[in-house]
Amino acid sequence: MNTPSEPHGHLIDFAPEELDQRLSEWCKQNQFPAYRSRQIRDHLIDQRVLLASEMTSLPKTIREDLAKNLLAPAVTIETVLRSTDGTLKFLFRLKDGKSVEAVWIPTQDRGTLCVSSQVGCAAGCTFCATGTMKLSRNLTSSEIVGQWHAVDRMTREEGKVGVTQIVFMGMGEPLHNFSAVSRSLHWLTSPDAFGMSPRRITVSTVGIVPKIRPLIEEHPQIRLAVSLHSAVEETRARIVPIQSKHSLSELLDTLSRLRNTIRRISLEYVVLPGVNDDVQEALALAAFARKCHGHINLLPFHPFEGAPFKAADDETVERFREEVSRHYDGQVTARRSRGLDIDGACGQLALKSGDASSGQ
Ligand code: SF4
Repeated sequence: MNTPSEPHGHLIDFAPEELDQRLSEWCKQNQFPAYRSRQIRDHLIDQRVLLASEMTSLPKTIREDLAKNLLAPAVTIETVLRSTDGTLKFLFRLKDGKSVEAVWIPTQDRGTLCVSSQVGCAAGCTFCATGTMKLSRNLTSSEIVGQWHAVDRMTREEGKVGVTQIVFMGMGEPLHNFSAVSRSLHWLTSPDAFGMSPRRITVSTVGIVPKIRPLIEEHPQIRLAVSLHSAVEETRARIVPIQSKHSLSELLDTLSRLRNTIRRISLEYVVLPGVNDDVQEALALAAFARKCHGHINLLPFHPFEGAPFKAADDETVERFREEVSRHYDGQVTARRSRGLDIDGACGQLALKSGDASSGQ
């Protein structure tokens, strides 16, 4: 008779290369036949089934053990908000009761998923609802991959395109959670795991300089987005307090050295009227982008309760875009707001759900 197995971590919290070994050890330990290991791998990787209860070729005892241990559900969709523009916002409940958000944005034949990497965030950007929460904890690799899996599956079941691109721009600073983010990237992109093209994945950072090169060395094909928001030292310090630890000049130096190795560097810039939208700011941004060959992406500000800034109107953004373009030959684009009717910016739903301070 089989004895119940010891609790194990989730399979996706280990490296994908360890999958076969972990499964066969688990089978041996529980006296399950060795071929079950191959069946579980097929369900997980080939059929992208992460819920043990749906691995129907397995006997109930094995499914139950898997569901308690190696494949205990890491995230559960608690709420889905639907915008009139097609954007979907998800509130995920984690096993310890905390919550994070993800946003799925459809455009033509694409579905872009913005995933969270932490509960709360220590970076404290002043234009960001998540920044008001402080850091509660890092997400695990299985919690990050779980967001992708749940949204891809649900949107496909609804006849939509699923998730074709992933951006790490939800709650949290991905490079403050380097090992779990990197592991999740291996699971998402490895040909022996979920096999998504790394070119369809963007990792965004507010500028955690020491971690940028290691990220690109481990994942050379991904895209990098840098939340810049000002190329003037004093202005940036006001918007992005983490600037005091990693100066603009260090950031620029790192990006300039990487500019020929990396596929693409985007410079994200939330236009804040009266704060970072004058001619001096435009000149500084153009000069910064020239040195690192960045693609400038101007973003709308999503106001939230208590926010110290107001949103720029379309004319203000366009005027600033033209001013930057006058001094920079590279790409300067302005992104439209999406999902405003469902609190499209990161952190707003979690704040309203009352979980924002659960880990503080
Ligand atoms: S913008 Fe990103 S890095 Fe800054 S506080 Fe918000 S979640 Fe953190």
